[in-house]
Amino acid sequence: MGLDEDALEYHQTDPPGKIEISTTKSTNTQRDLSLAYSPGVAAPCREIDDDETQAYTYTAKGNLVGVVSNGSAVLGLGDIGAQASKPVMEGKGVLFKRFADIDVFDIELDESDPHEFVEAVKMMEPTFGGINLEDITAPSCFTIEERLREEIDIPVFHDDQHGTAIISGAALLNAADIAGKDLEDLEIVFSGAGASAIATARFYVSLGCRAENITMCDSSGIITETRAQEVNEYKRQFARDIPGGDLADAMEGADVFVGLSVGGIVSQEMVRSMASNPVIFAMANPDPEIGYEEAKAARDDDVIMATGRSDYPNQVNNVLGFPFIFRGALDVRATEINEEMKVACAEALADLARQDVPDAVVKAYGDEPLQYGPDYIIPKPVDPRVLFQVAPTVAEAAIESGAARTDFDLDAYEEELEA
Ligand code: NAP
Ligand code: MG
Repeated sequence: MGLDEDALEYHQTDPPGKIEISTTKSTNTQRDLSLAYSPGVAAPCREIDDDETQAYTYTAKGNLVGVVSNGSAVLGLGDIGAQASKPVMEGKGVLFKRFADIDVFDIELDESDPHEFVEAVKMMEPTFGGINLEDITAPSCFTIEERLREEIDIPVFHDDQHGTAIISGAALLNAADIAGKDLEDLEIVFSGAGASAIATARFYVSLGCRAENITMCDSSGIITETRAQEVNEYKRQFARDIPGGDLADAMEGADVFVGLSVGGIVSQEMVRSMASNPVIFAMANPDPEIGYEEAKAARDDDVIMATGRSDYPNQVNNVLGFPFIFRGALDVRATEINEEMKVACAEALADLARQDVPDAVVKAYGDEPLQYGPDYIIPKPVDPRVLFQVAPTVAEAAIESGAARTDFDLDAYEEELEA
C-alpha cells in the first residue's frame, strides 16, 4: 500500500482520529464521583473564584494547550478550511503529547475574518495554559497574533512563524560559527516574504543580525524602497534602498540564503555567486529551493546546508521547538512567550548540537556519525536531551524576563524532567 492508503487506514482504525480524553483521578466509587463532580467540585470552584491563579492548582489548565486554526494555510494543501484541517491539528496534539507530555484541545474555527477569530480565541483564555496558533495565512496571522498577545495573559505562539524562526536561528548560530563569520556581518537573502520568512528575518535580528543586511525577495523579486508602497506593512519593514532585481541578483555575494518560498528556484549558478562558506537554508516543503546534493555539488566543499527534509542532514523541523518551549512556559505559568524565551531556546538548541551525541540517538539515525560540523548544526528531533535542556532554559528566561507567574528551583525542575 502507498502512503496515502496507509494514512487513511491509520486514521480510520477504530476509534477514528488520533486522540481521546482520559481521566487522571480515581472514578471508581460514588465518593470519587461526588469529589469529581457535584457536590465536591464546588470547593475548587470557590478557590478559583477567590484567586484565578488557583486554576493552575485545581484544573488541567496548566498542562493544556489550544491548537487553534482556521485551516487557511495548511502545509502543502493551502486554504482547505477549518473542518479539513482537523487531522493536522489532531496531529499537532500528538506531537505535543509525544515530545513534551502536553495535552491539547484542537480547535478548528470556521472564521476567516481576523477580528472575529481574535474574539473567539480571547473567549477561550480560561480553558488553556497557552495557545498555539497553527496554519493561518499571512498577513492576517501577524495581526491575529499581535492582538491576542496584547489582549490575553497566557502564551500565544504562532508556530509556523516562530518555530521556523527559532530552529533555523539555532542552525544559523552554528553555521556562522563554522563559517567563521559574525552574525552582525552576515549579508542575508530571503526567498519568500510570508508568515515564516517575516518571522524568521525578525528573529535573526533578535539574535544579532542586522536588519539593514537583510534582503527580502517575494514572488516579484527584491523588496526595495521603490516597491515599499505596493507591499504589505510587514514586507515594508524589510524594504531596502537598493536597485531592484530578482533573487539571482540578491544572492550575488551573500553569506546566507534563507528559502521559505517554493521548490526548485535556486540554481547551482546562484549558489556559486555567493560568498565563501555560504550558508543555505532551503526550507520550502516538500521540495527545497535547491536540493541538498545539487547545492553541495555546486562548489568546492564549503556549502553549509539545511533543508526541511528528514532524508538529508540538518533537518529544520519545528518539533525541535514548540513542545519544549511550551513545556518550559507552562511549567512557570508564563503569561507570554517573549523574545527572550525564543532566543534562549535557539541558543540552547545550538549549544546542544556542539555536545557529544548519545549512542542511542546515533543508532536511531542509522549509525551516521553525528558530530558538530557542517552536516550536524542542529540536534535531531528524537534526541531526548532536547527536553531536558530546552525546557529549563525557556523556563529560566521566562523567570528572568518577568513572564513567569511562579518562581521555582530550576535544578530540581531539570531533575524532574529527566525522571
Ligand atoms: P506563505 O506565507 O504562503 O509565503 C510564501 C512566500 O513565498 C510568499 O512571500 C510568496 O511571495 C513567496 N514566493 C512564492 N513563489 C515565489 C517565487 N517563485 N520566488 C520567490 N518567492 C516566492 O508561506 P509560509 O508559511 O511562509 O511557507 C513558505 C514555505 O516554507 C513553504 O514551502 C513551507 O512549507 C516552508 N516552510 C518550511 C518550514 C520548515 O521548518 N522546514 C517551516 C515553515 C515553512 P508573495 O508574497 O509575492 O506571494
Ligand atoms: Mg503548521
